[in-house]
Amino acid sequence: MRDFLLFVESRDRFAVGLFRQFKIEETPSRVLIITPTLEYKRWVLEYIKSRLADYNKEILVKTKEEGNAVQEEGYKDGLQDRYRFENFVVGKCNELAYKVCFEISSSPGTYTPLFLYGGVGLGKTHLLHALGGRAKSLGYKVVYRQVSDFSEEMIKSLKGGKVEEFRKSYSSKDILLLDDVQFLSGKERTQVELFRIFENLQVREKQIVLVSDRHPKEMADVSERLISRFASGIVLEIGLDEETKLSIVKQKLSLFGLPVDDAHVNYVMENTGYSVREIEGFIKTLKLTGMKEKSPSETLQKEERLLRLVARHFNLKPEDLKRSTKERKVLKARHIAMYFCKSLLGKSYSEISRLFGGADHTSALYAIKKIEEQRQADRKFAYMLEVIEKNLKRFLGLE
Ligand code: ADP
Ligand code: MG
Repeated sequence: MRDFLLFVESRDRFAVGLFRQFKIEETPSRVLIITPTLEYKRWVLEYIKSRLADYNKEILVKTKEEGNAVQEEGYKDGLQDRYRFENFVVGKCNELAYKVCFEISSSPGTYTPLFLYGGVGLGKTHLLHALGGRAKSLGYKVVYRQVSDFSEEMIKSLKGGKVEEFRKSYSSKDILLLDDVQFLSGKERTQVELFRIFENLQVREKQIVLVSDRHPKEMADVSERLISRFASGIVLEIGLDEETKLSIVKQKLSLFGLPVDDAHVNYVMENTGYSVREIEGFIKTLKLTGMKEKSPSETLQKEERLLRLVARHFNLKPEDLKRSTKERKVLKARHIAMYFCKSLLGKSYSEISRLFGGADHTSALYAIKKIEEQRQADRKFAYMLEVIEKNLKRFLGLE
């Protein structure tokens, strides 16, 4: 919940006071704001449209009455209809994934389970929603969940003594779409429940689609039996190549009402990495600020991009990595980012220390050494680094 309010506060110190009076429920993928009356709802909707439209989650606004109705109905199907097959640009790197998803949407159960994986911002979530939306329009019962929401829901149902209902509601679907399954890591009870539902759906030849940022075999702290189920159907990688990136840049430029000429296309191509999310963000900013005379230096951008990707891997913000801290998870991410600045970007220890707000070069030296040692000694850790490294290389265009 704090994220959204922080965002409002960064825009408008006064509005945040008003927003605080509403009930706000925030999950990793959406925000639900519950207002006391319809007038408030209208005001909030208007305000969001004019000031907060670029918040990176879906924002739902409901009056208290509507909110109660939602609670009674239980969780919705979770589908977002702005992600469709028609607005998905197809190229070499995502063609197979696209075709398989399209086919599944009209004949679920054909390729099950389907496991889609690839780096951040490459259209995995987009494809899941497109598949679900089309299937739903054809009359199939579909449910889409981020693993974190699935898990939260399960815990609530356990506490409320409603776990049977929970199981039933999932097992009765034709299609289960589960996003970001790498976050199953360490969630033992969720894995147990998912396994049950999985079996149930498989027996009845229903469709399961899973999406992750890494291959099933590269997932840490997920039970063997679940991993072997994940890998038992079709496993497909989704990527982004230069040619597809070019088509996407053109599509997004025209979508945002910008000219699709060489100058604009090249400017975006040169200043973005291999992530459609990044391309979209860049074009949104471009729309506001126009093209700058000089593009920021290439290496600076690479560092910032590296930070962003490592931070996202650990569910942190890039700024978190630039501060020294005692918090273990943050510290680890910080050291890993330093390590890759050295190994992938070839930065010197003092450059790295400076970038990460350290006093002198020994802090970077020490951190990087520690990561190198752990990479040698700890197989799981080495795996994780490999995944990040692979994503980084693609993301920074180093391949
Ligand atoms: P992922 O789930 O792989 O991290 P998303 O599906 O969230 O990525 O995609 C990030 C953004 O990029 C979304 O707004 C999505 O609509 C857009 N996008 C990704 N791939 C494509 C594509 N091939 N064509 C059009 N838009 C795309
Ligand atoms: Mg996604």
